[in-house]
Amino acid sequence: MENCIFCKILAGEIPSSKVYEDDEILIFKDINPIARVHLLCIPKEHYATVAQLDPARSAVLGRAFEKIGRLAPTLGLADGYRLVMNQGESAGQTVHHLHIHILGGEPLPWGK
Ligand code: 5GP
Ligand code: ZN
Repeated sequence: MENCIFCKILAGEIPSSKVYEDDEILIFKDINPIARVHLLCIPKEHYATVAQLDPARSAVLGRAFEKIGRLAPTLGLADGYRLVMNQGESAGQTVHHLHIHILGGEPLPWGK
C-alpha cells in the first residue's frame, strides 16, 4: 500500500529492528517506545482496523496472538505485558496498517 510506513518496513524500504518474522506477520521494535519493551506486531497484509477483518485475516490474527504468547517470555515480558490495538482517529491510530502494540518490561499504569 502506497505511503504506508509499515508496508515500507515490510518491503525493506525503511529499516526496522526485527524481533520475529514469518510469512504472515512481523514483530519489530517501536521507534518511539512508551514502555521499556515496546514492540509492534503487524500482519503482512495491509488493512487498517478490525472492521476489515474477514475469516482469513482473523485466522492470521489468531496465529499472531498465539505467537506473541509463545514468544513473550523470550522478549523480556515474562512478568506480564499489555496488548493494545488503536482503532481509528479518536483512539490515536496514526499508522493505518493494523498493528498490535506489545508493551511491558516494567509495571504499567492503567488508564484510558
Ligand atoms: P498507533 O498510534 O497508530 O497505534 O501506533 C503507531 C506506532 O508506530 C507508534 O507507536 C509509532 O511510534 C510507531 N512508528 C511510527 N513510525 C515508525 C517507524 O518508522 N518505525 C517503527 N519501528 N515504528 C514506527
Ligand atoms: Zn501497510
